[in-house]
Amino acid sequence: MKANAVKAVQREILLGFWKAHILHHASQGPVVGQWMLQELRRHGYEVSPGTIYPLLARLEEHGWLTCKTDPAGGLHARKEYSLTAAGRDVLALLQKQVEELYREVVLGEGEEENENDKGVSTPN
Ligand SMILES: [Zn+2]
Repeated sequence: MKANAVKAVQREILLGFWKAHILHHASQGPVVGQWMLQELRRHGYEVSPGTIYPLLARLEEHGWLTCKTDPAGGLHARKEYSLTAAGRDVLALLQKQVEELYREVVLGEGEEENENDKGVSTPN
């Protein structure tokens, strides 16, 4: 895939995957940006620090993550992000939706159910 196309996929779709991924890992314990960056790269995503830190900040703005900064750390103190109760609700919703998506998009299950009514008029 060309670099432009990869960028478009990242912006339109993968950003959401990364956020889901962050919430998942934060549910298992506090995460820091650098670790999260490596984790996403391990999964094959090309994520830069310029992307991951704003993402973490957005999740915090939504109240899904809470951030703790070491007060003795000064300017470059590392920030630890933890999942909030609201974040846990979002993650639970995402788990259901991801499973549903996986079943249909990857496994091809349940595609006949609504096949007759796609809102597409068939010439006849
Ligand atoms: Zn992971």
